[in-house]
Amino acid sequence: MIEDKLIGRSLDLIRQCYQDISLYAPDRAPCAIDLSDNTNRYGIPPTAEKTLREVAVDAVTRYPALYAGELKAALADYAGVQPSQVVTGCGSDDVLDSAIRAFAEPGDTIAYPDPSFAMMPLFAKMNGLKGVSVGLARDLDFDFKGLLETGAKIIYLCSPNNPTGGVAVRGGIEWIIERAPGVVILDEAYAEFCDQNYLQVAAKHARLLVVRTMSKAFGLAGLRVGYAVGNEALVAAVEKSRGPYKISGAAERVAVAALRHDMGWVKEKIADVKTNRERLIRELKAMRLDPQPSGANFVLVSVPKSATELGKAMRQRGVAVRPFPGLRIFGESLRISLGPWEQVQAALDALKAVLA
Ligand SMILES: *Cc1c(COP(=O)(O)O)cnc(C)c1O
Repeated sequence: MIEDKLIGRSLDLIRQCYQDISLYAPDRAPCAIDLSDNTNRYGIPPTAEKTLREVAVDAVTRYPALYAGELKAALADYAGVQPSQVVTGCGSDDVLDSAIRAFAEPGDTIAYPDPSFAMMPLFAKMNGLKGVSVGLARDLDFDFKGLLETGAKIIYLCSPNNPTGGVAVRGGIEWIIERAPGVVILDEAYAEFCDQNYLQVAAKHARLLVVRTMSKAFGLAGLRVGYAVGNEALVAAVEKSRGPYKISGAAERVAVAALRHDMGWVKEKIADVKTNRERLIRELKAMRLDPQPSGANFVLVSVPKSATELGKAMRQRGVAVRPFPGLRIFGESLRISLGPWEQVQAALDALKAVLA
């Protein structure tokens, strides 16, 4: 059996930087009420749904557009920039991964805050980069100076930050993009839920790339549509690194429909999220817990027991939230996504029951 002898040796054939990567595996078992992943809990916008049901056969049998030109045009209108200042990808994960490849060589350093988006250390490894995490500053804002002092080729920032909800202080981003040696990637996956964004700055700046997604405010996580805005040279480099044909024809049509016709719906849901966010924070404080202020569609709260155990017990009561055990600075914590108030109330009820 020649196959048996060879199979044991296949590990040696795998690229070194992949050997200590484990697959991303948060608990995604279905749950009656799922407030664990910050997706849109109000559902899919109406025109997007209609378009999805009507997607023509030729969107499936033919190849999609090479670089999703129509989607870029719709995103450019939405962002108030030129189509040449936009690049798309299969979710913003794909855009982040492609940007890292475009702006750093294997062996270079990428710096990111901690806590922040859990995928960044993974993307660093996947691209053979050295990932360096820098704790948040004492006031819980980013340690801009510490990040800069790493000398990293890429500095990643996320505002509002996942999982803390914190919004970068005004002036901080401006300060770091004027001094960084390489590209600053600003992840604005949740910018629709706060009143600050850097789209206009990115379009005009040499080294700022703002990364966005249609997975959160637009309710299209399953379609995998992400994008970035930056100056034409940066955007073109990310596009080369990402490659052609990445956005499926069906995804492009539905995303364009949402951008062109569903903004009223999207804005209404964003407003509801903001109302429920302040209400959730008040309710958590009334429970003598210490929720973080949030500019996103979720709230992080430190808990007095094991976050993993609490998360499991809440799941048994039909509500999923995201546990963060031993989070730097915040300790045992839960991240609760926002949605219609009945769902948030169910999470509060479950949390009260499991804390009792
Ligand atoms: C959800 C999320 C993303 C990923 O979004 P996709 O477009 O679905 O890949 C990126 N960054 C942050 C901070 C997120 O929370």
